Amino acid sequence: MATERDRDLTRLVGGASAKKLKDHLGLVTAGDLLDYFPRRYAERGELTSIAGLPLDSDVTLLARVVKATSRKMATRKGTITDVVVTDGAEGALDTISLTFFNSFAASRQLRPGTVAMFSGRVGSYRGRLQLTNPDYVLLDAEAEDGASAEELAGKPIPVYPATAKLPSWRIAQAVATVLGQVDLEGLEDPIPQRLRAEYRLPGIADAYRMIHVPATAEEWAAARRRFQYEEALVLQTALARRKAQHAQLPSRPSPARRGGLLDAFDAGLPFTLTEGQREVGEVLAHELAAGHPMNRLLQGEVGSGKTVVALRAMLQVVDDGGQAALLAPTEVLAAQHYESIRRTLGPLARDGILGAADGVEVVLLTGSQSGAERKRSLLAAASGEAGIVVGTHALLSEQVQFADLGLVVVDEQHRFGVEQRDALRAKSLATPHLLVMTATPIPRTVAMTVFGDLETSMLRELPAGRAPIATHVVGLAENPSWERRIWARAREEIDAGRQVYIVCPTIGESGDDEGDLEALDEASWGGTALGPSDEPSPAASVAATLEQLAGESALAGTRIAALHGRLDGAQKASAMEGFAAGTTDLLVATTVIEVGVDVPNATLMVILDADRFGIAQLHQLRGRVGRGGHAGTCLLVTSLEPGHPSRERLDAVAASTDGFVLAQKDLEHRREGDILGASQSGRRSTLRLLRVLRDADVIERARADALGIVAEDPGLEAHPALKTAIDAYLEPEKEVFLERG
Ligand code: ADP
Ligand code: MG
Repeated sequence: MATERDRDLTRLVGGASAKKLKDHLGLVTAGDLLDYFPRRYAERGELTSIAGLPLDSDVTLLARVVKATSRKMATRKGTITDVVVTDGAEGALDTISLTFFNSFAASRQLRPGTVAMFSGRVGSYRGRLQLTNPDYVLLDAEAEDGASAEELAGKPIPVYPATAKLPSWRIAQAVATVLGQVDLEGLEDPIPQRLRAEYRLPGIADAYRMIHVPATAEEWAAARRRFQYEEALVLQTALARRKAQHAQLPSRPSPARRGGLLDAFDAGLPFTLTEGQREVGEVLAHELAAGHPMNRLLQGEVGSGKTVVALRAMLQVVDDGGQAALLAPTEVLAAQHYESIRRTLGPLARDGILGAADGVEVVLLTGSQSGAERKRSLLAAASGEAGIVVGTHALLSEQVQFADLGLVVVDEQHRFGVEQRDALRAKSLATPHLLVMTATPIPRTVAMTVFGDLETSMLRELPAGRAPIATHVVGLAENPSWERRIWARAREEIDAGRQVYIVCPTIGESGDDEGDLEALDEASWGGTALGPSDEPSPAASVAATLEQLAGESALAGTRIAALHGRLDGAQKASAMEGFAAGTTDLLVATTVIEVGVDVPNATLMVILDADRFGIAQLHQLRGRVGRGGHAGTCLLVTSLEPGHPSRERLDAVAASTDGFVLAQKDLEHRREGDILGASQSGRRSTLRLLRVLRDADVIERARADALGIVAEDPGLEAHPALKTAIDAYLEPEKEVFLERG
């Protein structure tokens, strides 16, 4: 059913304008344009600061003309008009020159004192900032359309995200035309009347007028508030609906059985479960027993014992005759999980010998396996012979079949999107239970927004007996000689029978160094500020460090190996195995070791150019040492000067070992898009006005309201406009974000 929103812009603003709106901004319908909100509002009299204008970017500038001259071109026919404009900054008068070729209008209109809005791309000419042939609009000219001077005086000027080809005021003109022609009062409001009244939010027609042509600053502020709430409500209702629908699906009930593998496993555990592990375990046991799918996010620090919790859940399902799959983000991790699960299971891990009873067959399935191995694993999964299948993305491929998949465990969620989760779920008739584990603490509102359809559990305490990690910042800028000390320190550790990690930001072989692909992946979540350092010097690489260490007398005779994402699966596995077995003393690696890798004998981690990593990532990395009862040490090595903003991050990591404190700090250091973007497997943030940290209260309120609406009216029969808004919001690329239920 076509509505006022769906009206084609071509009919409303004319073919030429509509084409520009489509080509430059992707706007096609009246609704698209109405929802294209100003980025900010300029006050009349306020001029744009010129000093900070970035080169080569499209800018919209409010400025006053100080000088204008026209002259004939020397070599060609025609006139050049040079106009100098200022932002009126006190003291040092900042100016930028504008050059117009053959613009009679500019030479006539841009007189000294005139204030105008200019739009163009910032270039430089002889060391001065310059706009060439900028588009412009005279601000006083608006008075011509009948508004009185007083009326204009207080009226904010909307500034739209514009391009050089489509300046802000052309967008504003198109919006004005659409506002005049579309029946705004006929638009249905997605926010129920009751909630609008409760929060004193303007209705949709008023809100569109107020956000595009506000009479006062209060108007646009009220309109923005309304659209923020609307966005939160639409998103949260979508999540609540998905969650409710999901809860209705049938799944394989796997009640805990007495005397099975789980009981045997518990009886053989060499430690007692922490209280958190026990509590979460009970919740999982209960949900697995229900006939509807579990959907749970388990957060807990590195080393908090999530894997044991997951394994117990898997055994409950296996006890009942079902299968469990564990999905890991990298081959190294999948292989490690496979080994450690088999080790932890001990005699309960059965090899693929038909007829052996009282055990579970665990198989590994990765992309780099040989054909024969892979075939054996595929067969074991499809026949049901394998109770536990551990793998990477390879598990998602269509060839992989399960006989009776009852539980999917996803390790380190932030590298798996919803698509992948759903692909795995689709491998079974009844919806499998889902447990997502992450070591990256996720603030509540982020969890609500990104994983709003999951319940969350948390392991807050580390198992007893874990030695604390001491973290120190090693500043080479002020103490270059400390570099020798680091290697001597490594040697002491090795002489004491312990092992050492050296972490480098990049791989560094073959000259085309783009860093480790996996490291880059992680960097997007970890918040690496690879960005604008004053003098981007090359970061420490695995290759260069290997070479350096080979010639380092302090390390003579030690056994050194390398691990990074460009090695093939077998090379990675052998590097990891050597380190795990203790035949390697020192492992030079990229962040591939960030998650999950568990070598209890490793006690020292040296992170080179640590300022290249984000807070959360550094915290994750250092969790790799001190796991075996020996005290761990982490050295954050940096060449940045003390006081450099990126060194603050290092100081923060050195100052706290509380992952939740650090996660909050980390978010404060990061841009919004990164938070949501990375959690959606690299997709950019789909939120428009909402900011998950800043607008936490709006999101919380909307969440409660949405749950109420869905509980009362699961089909949203009484809320057609909200339902439509959800469909529009989820389409098309956003669909994968949530709606696969
Ligand atoms: P995570 O996956 O949360 O990083 P793991 O489950 O890998 O943590 O556990 C880290 C280490 O701690 C493993 O060696 C595991 O055997 C051990 N462990 C787990 N739970 C306990 C416990 N309750 N007491 C002692 N050690 C534990
Ligand atoms: Mg783990």
